[in-house]
Amino acid sequence: MIYPIALAICSLLVAALEAFAPRRPEQRQLRPTLWTDLVMLVFNGHFLGVGLYLLSTKWILPPIDRVLGPHLYRNVAAHWPLWLQVATVLLVMDFAQWCIHNLLHRVSWLWEFHKVHHSVVDGEMDWIVSFRFHWMEAVIYKTLQYLPLAFFGFSATAALTHAIVGTLIGHLNHANLDLGHGPWRYLVNNPRMHLWHHDYDAPPGKARNFGIIFSCWDYLFGTAHVPDGPPRKLGFPGVESFPHNFFTSSLWPLQRLKK
Ligand SMILES: [Zn+2]
Ligand SMILES: [Zn+2]
Repeated sequence: MIYPIALAICSLLVAALEAFAPRRPEQRQLRPTLWTDLVMLVFNGHFLGVGLYLLSTKWILPPIDRVLGPHLYRNVAAHWPLWLQVATVLLVMDFAQWCIHNLLHRVSWLWEFHKVHHSVVDGEMDWIVSFRFHWMEAVIYKTLQYLPLAFFGFSATAALTHAIVGTLIGHLNHANLDLGHGPWRYLVNNPRMHLWHHDYDAPPGKARNFGIIFSCWDYLFGTAHVPDGPPRKLGFPGVESFPHNFFTSSLWPLQRLKK
């Protein structure tokens, strides 16, 4: 029950900041795509990951243990102090997400799925769209993240902390706020940086700023791009005909791949 409460608190906090100091005051909070984004917020939240973690520890891993027997690295993290577990989970999981996010842009059939997230256009960029992505992404991300956590014995608190920090930073990255985080921008992702990830004019396969929680991966690997001011336009070439309904946008990549 903790994650839904944390999701509600993060959402209220960032929504209040947006209402208090919006970067684009002309942007309407009640927009036509709001309901679809609210459905995705619930559907794509970290519920799946937290549920998968609990399922893994109780139902998925015990039968695997019985077959494999004692494994050298099984539950290795269970003996670590909590701060080390949390720091490891945040860094390793976020780097894994950075790598997967790169692939979502560079592999053409994965990009068809990731287009759902990049269908955010001008007038829509706010905290709610942080969970606008295809449900297949949630399945892949969460399975790759939370199943290894359970295998190596990271505590539920460490997994939950990652989910909550990811939710808060994700909300802020997409928020209608003019935040650059000063000198912390080289470590923590921020709205100014992530806005450029949604640049309409980025050449195909050449998007930048793939970070989720941390921005340091982009600075380390040369994919950081934060010019002054906002991009000319948000989205991608062809977004004009992209469906905005939950079901039609879910079917879109499958129809494209069939062609
Ligand atoms: Zn992306
Ligand atoms: Zn985004």
